[in-house]
Amino acid sequence: MTKITVAHGDGIGPEIMDATLNIMKAAGAQLEIEPIEIGEKVYLQGNSAGIAPESWESLRRTKVFLKAPITTPQGGGFKSLNVTTRKTLGLYANVRPCISYHPYVATKHPIMDLVIIRENEEDLYAGIEHQQTDEVTQCLKLITKPGTEKIIRFAFEYAKAYKRKKVTCFTKDNIMKLTDGLFHKMFDDIAQEYPDLESEHWIVDIGAAKLADTPENFDVIVMPNLYGDILSDVAAQITGSVGLGGSANIGAEYAMFEAIHGSAPRRAGQDMANPSGLLLGAIQMLVYIGQPKVAEKIHNAWLRTMEDGVHTYDLFKEVVSKEKVSTSGFAKAVIQRLGQKPKKLKSVEYSAGSTHKIQGHYTRTKPAKKELVGVDIFLHWNGEKRDPNVLGDILSKFKAGSFENKLITNRGVKVYPDGLPETFSTDHWRCRFTTDKMDVAGSYQNVLELCTLISEAGLDIIKTENLCRFDGEISFSMGQGQ
Ligand code: NAD
Repeated sequence: MTKITVAHGDGIGPEIMDATLNIMKAAGAQLEIEPIEIGEKVYLQGNSAGIAPESWESLRRTKVFLKAPITTPQGGGFKSLNVTTRKTLGLYANVRPCISYHPYVATKHPIMDLVIIRENEEDLYAGIEHQQTDEVTQCLKLITKPGTEKIIRFAFEYAKAYKRKKVTCFTKDNIMKLTDGLFHKMFDDIAQEYPDLESEHWIVDIGAAKLADTPENFDVIVMPNLYGDILSDVAAQITGSVGLGGSANIGAEYAMFEAIHGSAPRRAGQDMANPSGLLLGAIQMLVYIGQPKVAEKIHNAWLRTMEDGVHTYDLFKEVVSKEKVSTSGFAKAVIQRLGQKPKKLKSVEYSAGSTHKIQGHYTRTKPAKKELVGVDIFLHWNGEKRDPNVLGDILSKFKAGSFENKLITNRGVKVYPDGLPETFSTDHWRCRFTTDKMDVAGSYQNVLELCTLISEAGLDIIKTENLCRFDGEISFSMGQGQ
């Protein structure tokens, strides 16, 4: 018996959860269920995260969470339960298989069998946002070495365990050279440790276009959080229905399994929704908790049901479907087929005890020699006609140690010295204080001195960012046009 925590969620959640639990019970899954309440009701009781404090105790006990979709109430102040759960429990890997079931499910892409592995905790989802000036808001994109190493190793280990052939990485490192650059470089380095697996990298824009156009060319794809969030929905949708997508969120100690879709409130209470997404999530859970043969039995019965044309309304098409069924009717059809395999679609096989062990690890690197070679001081400035030359003249008076103002950018573009009058300026100025070659080390005391001088002159400092060399390497981006 394995203890699991189960949340029935909102909207279609309770119906698809009942269908999933009934199928697992009929297949002989050894589960002891601890139910918890999450979602709309809990939000409206005043828990801004949509989960009551006592529910965390159940999760801490069982460490395995099967979760139906929830409705996030409209309006401000409600935090995403998914993001909270993923980050609180350290669920760094999101695994979404996206597979076509042609010709039984209508799709423009008959040959498609890929898995998106999305980093789940970092990137712009760190949720660190500020309004800095009247005109400018900011969201910090954080890509860490441990987070990146863990997800990339996880992707390669996943590919190995599931006998996949290729791992592809998507980033935008032509623009974000430090953050996405770190992700890409670590991908290339770790790929060397897996010579039996093919590896490739695409810039995310053309990668996404290829994914939507020729998904048959992809196998396992690993991505930072934001790209993975968007493209895993695209990939699921083009298999035929978002209702077919199941997902696993894996951490070092905890795991959460769910459908990728939401609570579809318009379909709630009508016994209509397709429970397949949640069921496919639950199948991943059974593998994870060490019941792979039960997972295999359910998965093959589900494939057979699809193949027999027994479809819920979202998949039902006169040409391919034979019987239109309700949520509970679909569950009955799967249960009737337990023990059967698909005849045309490829059947699945889960090997006992191997696949649920997949983890990514990281090794902390030795701290580098870090030298402070300057500082970017960000100002909120609305002065004379927003003329950067005026600001440049003011700043030229301030020096500390060897740091002096060498550059001003606006939205990353150089506007001083020698900017172009055509460049549009907001009220947000990045003023770079350093030396000509950015190779003379200063101290944080110099930064404080500069801030004092600038602030005493009545200028509004938003924030500062230190400019550092790590082991002699410049570790910050240049201004565009610098
Ligand atoms: P949704 O995924 O609920 O619905 C999108 C469309 O897909 C709708 O047309 C819906 O009818 C259809 N659909 C979704 N699941 C289906 C299924 N199993 N069977 C048949 N059709 C299905 O997305 P939405 O309408 O944008 O969001 C509704 C609510 O769900 C919102 O409150 C949102 O915040 C929430 N949501 C929750 C999660 C989650 O809990 N993981 C994820 C996404 C959205």
